[in-house]
Amino acid sequence: MPVSLKSPRASAATAVAGVAETVAAVIADVEARGDDAVREYSEKFDRWSPPSFRLSAADIERIVAGVDRQVIDDIRTVQRNVGDFARKQLESLRDFEVETLPGVYLGQRSIPVSAAGAYVPGGRYPLVASAHMTVVTAKVAGVPRVAACTPPIRGEIPAATVAAMHLAGADEIYLLGGVQAVAALAVGTGSIAPVDLLAGPGNAYVAEAKRQLFGRVGIDLFAGPTEILIVADDTADPFIVAVDLLSQAEHGPDSPAILVCSSEEVARKALAHVEALLPGMPTNDYAGPAWRDHGQVIVTETTDEAFAVANAFAAEHVQVLTAEPRRALALMHDFGALFLGEETCVSYGDKVIGTNHTLPTRGAARYTGGLWVGKYLKTVTYQEITNRDSSVELGRLCGRAARVELFEGHARSGDARAAKYAGDPLPW
Ligand code: NAD
Repeated sequence: MPVSLKSPRASAATAVAGVAETVAAVIADVEARGDDAVREYSEKFDRWSPPSFRLSAADIERIVAGVDRQVIDDIRTVQRNVGDFARKQLESLRDFEVETLPGVYLGQRSIPVSAAGAYVPGGRYPLVASAHMTVVTAKVAGVPRVAACTPPIRGEIPAATVAAMHLAGADEIYLLGGVQAVAALAVGTGSIAPVDLLAGPGNAYVAEAKRQLFGRVGIDLFAGPTEILIVADDTADPFIVAVDLLSQAEHGPDSPAILVCSSEEVARKALAHVEALLPGMPTNDYAGPAWRDHGQVIVTETTDEAFAVANAFAAEHVQVLTAEPRRALALMHDFGALFLGEETCVSYGDKVIGTNHTLPTRGAARYTGGLWVGKYLKTVTYQEITNRDSSVELGRLCGRAARVELFEGHARSGDARAAKYAGDPLPW
């Protein structure tokens, strides 16, 4: 039986109390009053009301020119990594056509959405990497119009984020964040044309806004406040465990960090390291409450049991610090992304390595993986018949099958072909 060494003080539900009502009100207002409502909410939540939320080409040029050259070089390197992996994913979606009967052709094609909104978070930190994840991936998918948005950060323009959006190929860049940005892109306003699909991570408000707008607009997935779960055994380094737990807790006060460990000794040492490291962390304002309210340490009898516990959490990030990390590929089935072995970590995935960091949270990993090139594509089918004997064979089958369902109109489409091509008597 798993034993808890540290329990969370708050439930995930507490963290999102009241969010749904706020979000619904903002969406309804943006829908009713368009740009005026967007401006009011940007003033209210972000104290931000520039003459235009959209950056002009001249604005972008000036902002990008002010970004440190090393930062620009690093953005290019990471965008190459993200783009290379997305192109590899695209290969797995090859269009195909198959002949199932003589002259009967069934085909599948993947078509990019015409317009995507790329949300790049920025309330607490300038999340430059989210621009790579959303915009680069959309462009690899072939999306013709990518409208990218990000909030100002404490009243300042996040220059490196704007540079990353621009270098990734964003067609429109808006300095606008939160629910007002998501709603504007989803329903459209006088100055912002609506998109077909919204993608990108965000805080509880942003994730809830996307959830509420789903159906009117496509969404990539529920990618809210970050979570980390580490599976460890007696070979894990407790210091590394602690450092990596805190690397994700710093995202925000609502970010769960969970250790599931088959060694009580490693778990206790890791717990002590976390407590020792927290006060000195510059991001303790977020990591501290996150650990206090949502941190958990669970000790299991075996490592396989630890993997079973991890599956039940269906966490966004699962880091595996065990003697045989690759066993996770066989044992884990509910997770957003796996990080195997001490040499890698969630931070590499978040910032540089090339897999997408926009990942499912709050149990959404039970039914979806993270953002990938396929999310920007619609996989559609088509069919053609060039052989009349095959059409007759299918027409007779269709007539019988449709009548079982009492669909006389459907049945007659099959009957009519069997009559025209093979002289079958019309049964009506
Ligand atoms: P954000 O851009 O997601 O949200 C900032 C916006 O929230 C602001 O512009 C503001 O308009 C709005 N807001 C703030 N308080 C509000 C309130 N009380 N009412 C209505 N709106 C309000 O940036 P953030 O806040 O820094 O959060 C980023 C989030 O993204 C973090 O929670 C992080 O964990 C998460 N994240 C998730 C993933 C993933 O893949 N799941 C990846 C990266 C980051």
